[in-house]
Amino acid sequence: MAKDDVELIKNGKRLDGRKFDDLRKIKIEVGVLKRAVGSAYVEWGKNKVMAGVYGPRELHPKYLRDPTKAHLRCIYNLAPFSVEDRKRPGPDRRSVEISKVSAEALSSVVMLEKYPNAGIDVFIEVLQADAGTRCVGLTAASVALADAGIPMRDLVPACAAGKVSGEIVLDLMKEEDNLGECDLPLAIIPRKKEIVLLQMDGKLTKDEFKKACGLAVDGAMKVYEMQKEALLSSINNVRIEE
Ligand code: UDP
Repeated sequence: MAKDDVELIKNGKRLDGRKFDDLRKIKIEVGVLKRAVGSAYVEWGKNKVMAGVYGPRELHPKYLRDPTKAHLRCIYNLAPFSVEDRKRPGPDRRSVEISKVSAEALSSVVMLEKYPNAGIDVFIEVLQADAGTRCVGLTAASVALADAGIPMRDLVPACAAGKVSGEIVLDLMKEEDNLGECDLPLAIIPRKKEIVLLQMDGKLTKDEFKKACGLAVDGAMKVYEMQKEALLSSINNVRIEE
């Protein structure tokens, strides 16, 4: 049973009717911001997240410039109106942490060496949050980077798994995240079969950890297919204006 004895699983189904290994509904739109070089908007369950990429461009402050490669910065922001209890505007410890791990995950696929001394800025704006926003943010940001035409070795799909009412389940929503026993978000580089982000909040046995990791990787692979599909259809939709 979960914390506070809330019944999160009934008759083998979760609160929203999903099976243990079901993802929430995901929609990915590409090229949604006119002033960004690349952008993506992702709806994932009740999450709504926008990502915008600016650059490669002149990097300020100058001391961050690296003559061997570009510097990729990421700012993850949870809008004050995105959550039930209004969030105080501006950065906090959580958003600084998510920005840092997201920048590191994205830097592992972007060919930064092609743009010495430059800066690439990635903004992740969470407009509506319902758990898993760091995974949604990374998923949107890597599509936005591809939309910007920045050379990349791969995309960075992400997904969480966790433990709810004693069961290992995929893609926790808010109630499961708050009241469940564990949340384990991860992000992968599919072509290299590598994990580039792994965090865990809660407790799992070694076997449960292995199972949750496997489930989250499978979930991220499904997200990867959706990212590629969205990018391909955005290319096919391009019309050359006369
Ligand atoms: N949340 C909130 N206020 C906050 C931070 C988070 O209401 O200041 C909610 C929001 O719905 C978020 C969820 O708690 O999606 C889980 O947050 P967590 O820190 O686990 O990150 P996430 O799962 O979104 O990556």
